[in-house]
Amino acid sequence: MVKYFRPHSSARGINVVDPVVLRARGIRGAIVDLDNTLVGFHAQAPLAEDALWVQRAHAAGVQVVVLTNNGTPWAWEIARTLAVPCIARARKPLPFGFRRALRVLKLSPAEVVVIGDQLFTDVLGAKLARLEVILVDPLVRHDPWNTRPLRWLERLVMRGVPRA
Ligand SMILES: [Mg+2]
Repeated sequence: MVKYFRPHSSARGINVVDPVVLRARGIRGAIVDLDNTLVGFHAQAPLAEDALWVQRAHAAGVQVVVLTNNGTPWAWEIARTLAVPCIARARKPLPFGFRRALRVLKLSPAEVVVIGDQLFTDVLGAKLARLEVILVDPLVRHDPWNTRPLRWLERLVMRGVPRA
């Protein structure tokens, strides 16, 4: 049971995930969550360093697609600003959005990594879709899923997961 929530690795934030390292081991695409992964929760514009990570990924040969449960107009707006395709209202953890993202990237599951901040949407969804997943710390902790009662569960799930 726990294995469905256990990411392959974790990182302090997306900015410490090095796209050059990903590419060196055969990763050619990143399916990236929006809120609290690429931008602060319900932020309406990307920070400069987030835009920079997308640029670093593209320069390294890693294509990016945004996969978000967010269905607000600014989800598309942010993706447009970052010049990446966006699948919104994705209903993660259901696997359909992940499959759609693979089709958008035109890549096989083994060439793709999922990056997100939530165990119940990003990690579980990636696991159900049989994709590698990196859990990042949320940029802003205003997210209802990131409240205290779930911390013990997170500690259990994260036992033994390598961290960057
Ligand atoms: Mg998120």
